[in-house]
Amino acid sequence: MISVVVPVHNEERSVALLYDELRSALEPLEMQWETIFVDDGSTDGTFAALTRLHSSTDNVRVVRLRRNFGKAAALRAGFDQARGETVVTIDGDLQDDPAEIPRLLAKLEEGFDLVSGWKTRRRDPLTRRVLSRIFNRVTGAFSGVHLHDMNCGLKAYRAEVVHGLRLYGELHRFIPVLAHYRGFRIAELPVNHRPREHGRSRYGVERYLRGFLDLLTVSFIGRYRHRPLHLFGGLGLILGAFGTAILVYLTVLKILGNAIGHRPLLLLGVLLVVIGMQFFSLGLISEMITSHHEERAGERDRAELLVDEVLS
Ligand code: UDP
Ligand code: MG
Repeated sequence: MISVVVPVHNEERSVALLYDELRSALEPLEMQWETIFVDDGSTDGTFAALTRLHSSTDNVRVVRLRRNFGKAAALRAGFDQARGETVVTIDGDLQDDPAEIPRLLAKLEEGFDLVSGWKTRRRDPLTRRVLSRIFNRVTGAFSGVHLHDMNCGLKAYRAEVVHGLRLYGELHRFIPVLAHYRGFRIAELPVNHRPREHGRSRYGVERYLRGFLDLLTVSFIGRYRHRPLHLFGGLGLILGAFGTAILVYLTVLKILGNAIGHRPLLLLGVLLVVIGMQFFSLGLISEMITSHHEERAGERDRAELLVDEVLS
């Protein structure tokens, strides 16, 4: 079964059209499929349109959020409802083309866990395209996951990938990174993209700025969550070592009879040693929190999340 998850915020004119396109794309596959629309606090007639769709079809489910929580939260609510072993996400504004879904699914079959669309000819304003390019480059450099179009709304997943995702804030932009850190195989596939015809985009430059802070969170959690001492302790040791070297050098000078009290270098040496110690203890504390946390979470969910398959 395929679950198609569609986050929508004020897309009253698009949802029914989208459903028709989904049906034309998915029916020929002769597989069971369902659509889960998540109404992310729309203030127009979106929910009414969805209610109509729900009663006139047999495979539409609708989740209505209490208010506008953002795309990440909407996706998460949709994933919670998804029953298929394959999950597809698509934007509700008709910019993504449902006709591409069969190709994404075929790619998934080749042995990937996540196939992300890549809008090669993107129908958005120029500033938008430039910013997004920078965003993808920076994210690639930070995370080691090099995709041309990290944030494409059209993606296909094996269900395991989405069920472990804890999306909030702007984290939906980094789904491939989060999946990569959990060891899933990721592929990218060029897809068709269309201009927006109804409604308007909620995009703004400040989203990218916030997105960058989220990137730091994501890379930190992905790499150091289970070994914070490697980051803080490492940094602490390096700074402390520099500071110590400076102080040793100054001590030698002092022993040889030079005055060192007026030297800025002395201040720097002391500062580096103190900061180094602070980083190191921060690392130890984080390590204690982590190990405490893992002991408790341990049996519950860690192990099964790491296992790909078991032959027995
Ligand atoms: N969306 C949402 N909650 C929001 C903003 C957007 O569910 O707070 C949905 C929106 O209805 C659309 C998808 O997320 O289906 C992508 O949004 P948008 O088109 O505004 O973003 P863009 O394509 O311009 O990046
Ligand atoms: Mg859009």
